[in-house]
Amino acid sequence: GSLLAAEGLGKTYGATPALDGVEFSVHPGEVVAVMGPSGSGKSTLLHCLAGIVRPDTGTVRYGPHELTALSDARRSALRRSDFGFVFQFGQLVPELTGLENVALPLRLNGTRRKEAERQAREWLERLEVDGAAGQRPGEISGGQGQRIAVARALVTGPRVIFADEPTGALDSLNGERVLGLLTGAARDTNAAVVLVTHEARVAAYSDREIVVRDGRVKDVLAGLR
Ligand code: ADP
Ligand code: ADP
Repeated sequence: GSLLAAEGLGKTYGATPALDGVEFSVHPGEVVAVMGPSGSGKSTLLHCLAGIVRPDTGTVRYGPHELTALSDARRSALRRSDFGFVFQFGQLVPELTGLENVALPLRLNGTRRKEAERQAREWLERLEVDGAAGQRPGEISGGQGQRIAVARALVTGPRVIFADEPTGALDSLNGERVLGLLTGAARDTNAAVVLVTHEARVAAYSDREIVVRDGRVKDVLAGLR
């Protein structure tokens, strides 16, 4: 069955409907691309699915949990333990080294420093960015920063990875490498991926593509890979 599923999602900002009756589901190990023009509601959908934004109508189910019915504290705890996030501009902590940035989510979960740094180093190697382990975000390239952001999202072993334009700041070669590593790592660990993008070449890394327009799902394209 599906790991994460939404029904009848609606969200309005002021007079602007951002989502209007959206259905969505993703299985473990599946990569779903959410496509659509700017302003169509992609980010709002991702934020509702991740429990960051509470929809006005509809439900989001994650495993046995009804996200929309949980308290803010329980939703935050679930996000921290089960979800990973990759955003367009890595959002790394500028004062911390690459290694410390990747180790941070483990430290916040209570993992001891040595063990957190051991696991962080493994992910930096896997993302082919261990050369930046000792450097701070201001000293590295955009491609290195985004790899570190991916390592940080994956280090806790999330069951769902949310990626919003994860390659938007990268040239196409670096972007494809990062996507290959992200989706490969997700398949290896049987994590689900929700990948928001407006680029067709990014969607080509998905198993299934949905197209959002004016807050509604317009198309579902299956079996791309
Ligand atoms: P996309 O990610 O496809 O660009 P968004 O989900 O960011 O689309 O936005 C969908 C619509 O909702 C747009 O009209 C946008 O301006 C509006 N919107 C999104 N977030 C907010 C917000 N926090 N406050 C007001 N309007 C918002
Ligand atoms: P995207 O690249 O996803 O389209 P945007 O630039 O539309 O991103 O939105 C960036 C952030 O600003 C999002 O968190 C969104 O919720 C918020 N946002 C978008 N539109 C508005 C708006 N009209 N008013 C307030 N916040 C907005």
